Amino acid sequence: MTQVKAYSAASATSGLRPDTVERRAPGPHDVAIDIAFCGLCHSDVHTIRSEWGPAKYPLVPGHEIVGVVSRVGDSVEGFTVGQRVGVGCMVDSCRECDSCLEGFEQYCEAGNVGTYGAVDRRNGDVITQGGYSQGIVVDENYVVHIPEGMDPAAAAPLLCAGVTTYSPLRYLDVQEGDAIGVIGLGGLGHMGVKIAKALGATVTVFTTSPAKAPEALALGADTVVVSSDPAAMASAKGSLNAILDTVAAVHDLNPYLRTLARDGALIQLGLPSEKMPPVDPGQLIRRRLAYGGSLIGGIAETQEMLDFCAEHGIASDIEMVTAAELDQAYDRMVAGDVKYRFVLDVATL
Ligand code: NAP
Ligand code: ZN
Ligand code: ZN
Repeated sequence: MTQVKAYSAASATSGLRPDTVERRAPGPHDVAIDIAFCGLCHSDVHTIRSEWGPAKYPLVPGHEIVGVVSRVGDSVEGFTVGQRVGVGCMVDSCRECDSCLEGFEQYCEAGNVGTYGAVDRRNGDVITQGGYSQGIVVDENYVVHIPEGMDPAAAAPLLCAGVTTYSPLRYLDVQEGDAIGVIGLGGLGHMGVKIAKALGATVTVFTTSPAKAPEALALGADTVVVSSDPAAMASAKGSLNAILDTVAAVHDLNPYLRTLARDGALIQLGLPSEKMPPVDPGQLIRRRLAYGGSLIGGIAETQEMLDFCAEHGIASDIEMVTAAELDQAYDRMVAGDVKYRFVLDVATL
């Protein structure tokens, strides 16, 4: 066991404070990682504030982890000391069910083991602790390589925000010329814009923040619709093949469904803590629309996404924060005041 510095929450209202966590000695298949950067995901906020149900405190959040391999177990084949690596939202799964065998570990039928706040499969007493910490030990099957030349801090958000938008765009088989909508220009949303553009799509951003309109265009969007403007919403009617909904708060989906063309799909990525207003089945039926959801991405898909981003020169637009600024960063995220992902500089722990 090794103790590392971390920031944890003691309760839903405590905020994040200095703490330590124990990391296991690397087993034969484990990779020990010195963490350099960890992105701040809105899921960290939902979890730490117990918005998705009671969290298991004390809890260290963080699942957009980039660091350097410091040690490897005897049987590790894919990683060597000194390599730059990433860990996303999962650190284990059953490895036997159809989802695991097909590379969709996130949908593991026994439940994937989240990077934080989950019961560790190896030892039922241990609750996993995340990346707002100096180090982590992870089975090599749940670690990915950060491509050469990619800025490590700007790569961190790809481990969740990147793959969560890449996976449904690939599942939908988005092609050159497809028209894709992205609702909400935050961490997920800005990655959705960049990845959809790199796939050759034209992109419409729906935002509640008029001030983000020029920035959305600078990120590559072709059209920006301020969702509170009924005329702008009407002008987008029937124009889109698919929409990624990345909004972290309760909102009505029906105005967005109207912007889908026949056979279009609205994919829910954001998971607000309260129930959403119902989707109008009449709209789905009349244009053969689909309403679905998608959870992060598999491990191989995460590596594929990183390589895709490196090839296309894509990374996250980040604002670096120190450990002492974490609480303030959470408040700013809830207020929509982030461009477009906070990243914790782990050296400040
Ligand atoms: P974020 O950076 O805070 O971005 C969310 C964006 O939603 C905001 O920037 C804002 O964009 C928009 N928004 C916020 N409040 C709104 C409101 N009341 N009405 C309309 N729009 C609003 O969050 P994130 O890290 O991208 O995460 C977004 C959501 O996805 C969270 O619920 C998170 O838990 C979830 N998530 C899901 C997965 C998955 O696997 N499915 C993975 C990661 C995260 P505008 O200012 O442009 O309106
Ligand atoms: Zn996340
Ligand atoms: Zn499984």
